[in-house]
This record gives sequence, C-alpha cells and structure tokens, in this order.
Amino acid sequence: MIEELACVNCGTHYPVKESTSQVWMTCEKCGPAEGILDFRYDLAAVRKAWQDKPLSSRLPNHWRYSELLPLKAQSMPYDWQVGWTPIIVADRLAKHLGLSRMLLKDEGRNPSASFKDRASAVGVAHALEVGATSVACASTGNAASSLACHAALAGIQANIFVPATAPEPKLAQLLVFGARVFAVEGTYDQAYQLCSAACEKFGWYNRNCAINPVLVEGKKTGGLEVAEQTAKSGVPDWLAVSVGDGCTIAGIWKGLVEMHTLGVIDRLPKLLGVQAAEVAPLVYAFKKNELPAPGQGATIADSIDVQTPRNWRKAVNALHDSGGTILSVSDEQILAAIRLAGRHGVFAEPAAAAALAGVVAALDEQIIKPGESVLAMITGSGLKDTRSSIRAGGQPFKVQPSLDAIAAILEAQGVQSLGL
Ligand SMILES: *Cc1c(COP(=O)(O)O)cnc(C)c1O
Ligand SMILES: [Zn+2]
Repeated sequence: MIEELACVNCGTHYPVKESTSQVWMTCEKCGPAEGILDFRYDLAAVRKAWQDKPLSSRLPNHWRYSELLPLKAQSMPYDWQVGWTPIIVADRLAKHLGLSRMLLKDEGRNPSASFKDRASAVGVAHALEVGATSVACASTGNAASSLACHAALAGIQANIFVPATAPEPKLAQLLVFGARVFAVEGTYDQAYQLCSAACEKFGWYNRNCAINPVLVEGKKTGGLEVAEQTAKSGVPDWLAVSVGDGCTIAGIWKGLVEMHTLGVIDRLPKLLGVQAAEVAPLVYAFKKNELPAPGQGATIADSIDVQTPRNWRKAVNALHDSGGTILSVSDEQILAAIRLAGRHGVFAEPAAAAALAGVVAALDEQIIKPGESVLAMITGSGLKDTRSSIRAGGQPFKVQPSLDAIAAILEAQGVQSLGL
C-alpha cells in the first residue's frame, strides 16, 4: 500500500503506480551518493487492512506485514520462512546486569543465519517481480550469503563480490548456494565499486541496501516485529543494534515508527548504536554530523568492519530521533559478550555480540540506568565465524578415556564452571 517515494536529501516526491513493476534506485536530482529514496505508505489503508485481517491471524514470518512491503500481493513468497525470530527473555542475564528485563532477539535463526535474510528475501522477490534473472551484491559476508540463499530459492543467478578476507563459513555458504563468487583482492570499498559497475554493464539486479530502497523495507521488518512481539509485555526502554553501513538500525527504526503511528505500540525505545572501537566512523558522525576520513583500523566483527558507511545520515537521524546514542566497544569486549550471550542460550557472531557488549558498556557509562529494560538484536549466528567463536569459547579438556581423569578435572574446576 505504497503512497510514494521521497528523496531523503531534497524531499522530492516520486509517484509510484502499484500496478506496474519498477526498479527504483536514487533521486534524479541528488544522484546516487546523496539521493537515497524512501518508501512512504498509506497508513490509514494499512490500518484498515489490519482490522479486516488481524496480524494475529497471519503466518509467523515477515510476510505477515505484506501491506508495508514494496511488493505486489502476488509477488509475496509466503513459503520463504524469514523473520518471526524468537525473543529470548534472559532473566538471569537481566539480574546479572542490574536491568529489569534483558531480551535477546535471535536473528541467527533466519534461513542463512543472519538478519540480512530480511532484506535479501524482499530484494530477490522484487527482482523476480521485475523479471531479473541475475542479482548481485558486494558484501562483507552476510548480505552475500543471504542473497545467495534466496537466489537459490528463486532459481536465479547470484553474483557476489566479497573481500578476499571474509570468514570461511560465509564463503562456504556462498559456494554451496551456487553463487558466482568474486573474491576481490582489495578493500570492501573496491569490491563495492566493482559490483556497481558490473551491475550496470551486465544488467544485474543490484541488491545494494544503500541505494536500492526496496532492501531497506526488508530490514524494516526487524522493527515491525520487535514492536508486535513486545506490544503486550511492554516496549523496552532501549534497543541495542550493531552498526556498519547504518541500514540495519535505520530500517529497524523506520519499522518501529510505522508501528507507533499505526497504534500497535504506545511508545518508542531509545536506540543504542554500537560500533567496534577500531572502526567507528558513525560515533564520530553522530557528534560532528559529517564522516571522518576513512581510518586504517580493523575488527574481528567483520560484518560491521565498514570504514565508509553508505547510510550514515539515515542512521544518525534515527539515533537522534529516538533520543538514543552510539558508542563503541573493543574486540575484547565483543569476545566477552559472545561468551555472555552463549551462557544464556544464544550463539552470536562477533558483530551480533557487539550489541550486547554495547549494553554492558552503556551500563558502565550510565547511559543505560539500572532497572531499565533492554532488547539486544543478535544479528547473526556464531556459526558464521567459527574461528572467533572458538577464540571466545576456549579449548576443551584433552583427556585419556579414564574416569579418574574426569574426576581430577572436576575437582580442580568445581561443578559450576560455566558462570551459569
Ligand atoms: C550487516 C550486519 C550488521 C550491520 O548492518 P548495517 O546495515 O551494515 O549497519 C550487524 N550485524 C550483522 C551480523 C550484520 O551482518
Ligand atoms: Zn533528491
């Protein structure tokens, strides 16, 4: 139930005819760097549709929000099980941190094991709608593996540009899903430029979130879901999200605001953006309202290892609008948060654990106050980066097959060794 597209830079409105299939990219006046377009919906019509067919009567996946997605009703692939991931109520963790509630939304349970499936599923469905037979993206890993997964579901070719340094499990997913993988000997920035040029030259559908407004609508479903899933028990005071390009946090915020306008929730959380200490351009941009010169640092949190965020303005706006803030955490703090999430039943890759590490840091800095409630988006599974998982988890006991050896270790360690 799209009303129009609007340029986030100059405000120009672009009419959208729902009856025709279209490819949208950026504002004609502002160009591809600044002229990011944004879908606006007829929310009165959506409210009416949700009265006629209540959300509670719908399938438990993110297509339940069909009226707020930029696809035709007949293009909605209802059998692709994306979203409606569980929110784990981590009571012991809340007590440990001094919070009234600590919630972990486990996005690792999506089909390719990350939050990015939300965007890629909508992107590939849209590619099918416009008749594309090839899709492409440049990615630090998860956008690529989710695109490859959904291209395989759809039966179209995925072309992927990744930095040659991407973690092996993510590469393995790409290759097994049958993507054509270009491991670029260069930076993510160079991979990004190469992908854009290739899309133009070969006519591939570009899955790039920063310029293709369709993709952000997929990320938005994370926010729609948090709203619907916490509406009864109470919207948390804070929502922690790790930030790379900035599309995820901006998309989640858009979803929350739509649900607030629709009356599903009666208040909005504050956003806590979290970056890695060595790669934190958005922490700078939040204060100075401009990007710093790209740095040289790196982080184990490869999914947020982005020196030139493409959607920084949207992310900064979302942080300000929510009354929230952004901070950074070290790789050591991220590894500790991998253990912490694991001890409460959630397996997180480094960029996902960064959100929880940010909560711990924000409590230390008294940004989050004792007794408040927090939801952390755990954006990807620990299986995505087994090397970092093992670094966080430590080594097993090597033993001879003898009960005495076990008894000796138990005696040395005590029974409660996991910090549970
Ligand atoms: C992509 C990603 C993020 C950050 O999303 P951006 O849109 O780049 O800000 C966070 N966590 C994981 C696991 C990701 O894959
Ligand atoms: Zn414009």
